[in-house]
Amino acid sequence: MGALFTKARKRLKAAAKHLDVHPDVIEKLRYPKETLAATLLVRMDDGSRRGFKAWRCRYDDTRGPTKGGIRYHPAVNLDEVMTLAFWMTFKCAVANLPYGGGKGGVAVDVKQLSRTELERLSRAYVQAFARFIGPDRDIPAPDMYTNGIVMAWMADEYSMMADQPSPGVITGKPIALGGSLGRDDATGRGGYFVIRHLEKDLGLSPDKSRVVVQGFGNAAYHFARLMHADGYKIIGVSDSRSAIYDPDGLDPLAVMEHKNKTGRVAGAPTNRKAKELSNAELLETECNLLVPAAMESQLVQDNADKIKAPVVLELANGPTTPAADTILAKRGITVIPDILANAGGVTVSYFEWVQNKAGYYWPVQEVQTKLRAIMEPEARRVWDIKLEKNIDMRTAAYVHALHRIASAIEAHGTKAFFAGGA
Ligand code: NAD
Repeated sequence: MGALFTKARKRLKAAAKHLDVHPDVIEKLRYPKETLAATLLVRMDDGSRRGFKAWRCRYDDTRGPTKGGIRYHPAVNLDEVMTLAFWMTFKCAVANLPYGGGKGGVAVDVKQLSRTELERLSRAYVQAFARFIGPDRDIPAPDMYTNGIVMAWMADEYSMMADQPSPGVITGKPIALGGSLGRDDATGRGGYFVIRHLEKDLGLSPDKSRVVVQGFGNAAYHFARLMHADGYKIIGVSDSRSAIYDPDGLDPLAVMEHKNKTGRVAGAPTNRKAKELSNAELLETECNLLVPAAMESQLVQDNADKIKAPVVLELANGPTTPAADTILAKRGITVIPDILANAGGVTVSYFEWVQNKAGYYWPVQEVQTKLRAIMEPEARRVWDIKLEKNIDMRTAAYVHALHRIASAIEAHGTKAFFAGGA
């Protein structure tokens, strides 16, 4: 077991302490159900062939087909794929989607591939994992460095192999190929619903609270845009190269226009009080709500003591390390965990799959109303568990999810799940 997965699995133990769960259930959830590794031999534009390591993990499918993105990144490895699949299992259960958790990855630097090489790589992935994935078995989606176009190639390859249109095999597709309206801003919108619903409990309010967002990509931008429209002041945002801070508040739309033109947030139109900061300084800025929305392991042992926000909303996956979590909890800082905070993305992916299966497509208002109808009660339930059991919100979210997963495992009976029966 890799280090990341070993750390992630500790959440299971922490949650199990607060529930009366059969030890067999915990033992089952300590390991992925199945993982497949393959080497994708891809024809490059110069005629040569190159091998790329690839993985797909189906962590647990008790509650339904496994669901989770495919990541293209040079550092992807089995440990990371398994960890992300573990997190997806709990995220889908928090949102009460009829899914288990899965994840995939390819160790590749997409910046070094041409578009045609990227297409051949994506089609090769489906060829290698065609028996593993499927609309009722395991449903991929985009993740880091994969997007709607990659999903379209993959859905097309799968449909050709199945000899029938199979849009439900993958979500995050372009609208023209069966994607859902409202998927583009779903992650930011889901986080926004959570904050607005719990804002009184969290001591936040639109007229008084200042928000700092790390990152300015899909999740971050839509969250900032919606909060700004409701009156919250967005006083800082960043990208991989720089951060900007304006005590009077930034306009996310203007920052995005600038970023689209120049490729960076720095230099966006602001007033005279604005200044540039380093990413480290941005995280430590005085504010009421801090939103890491870029990448893993940003709040760590070394900076957890310096975080000034009383509330953290994890739009990124895994931005807080367990060591930082302990420090933040001791300091009374409320961390709204990733498996709740960013569950809006997978929830609208689920809506996409439902629409594909029904062949009937919903207007964007319906998607947003249905998303809200999931995010708000689940956020409330996690908050109530936190209060009832006097635990941090992350543990509460895991307790909430584990209760659902364990009930499903137990409802199946031991025979179906443990070789040799009870
Ligand atoms: P994205 O690629 O659209 O944006 C990422 C942003 O982070 C970019 O603005 C980039 O410049 C910035 N960034 C990269 N490295 C940085 C660094 N070191 N410091 C500051 N900023 C940095 O990605 P996204 O889809 O918005 O995903 C962001 C996070 O949200 C990831 O952790 C992802 O797993 C998580 N997430 C996204 C979705 C979704 O639907 N998009 C769903 C669930 C979780």
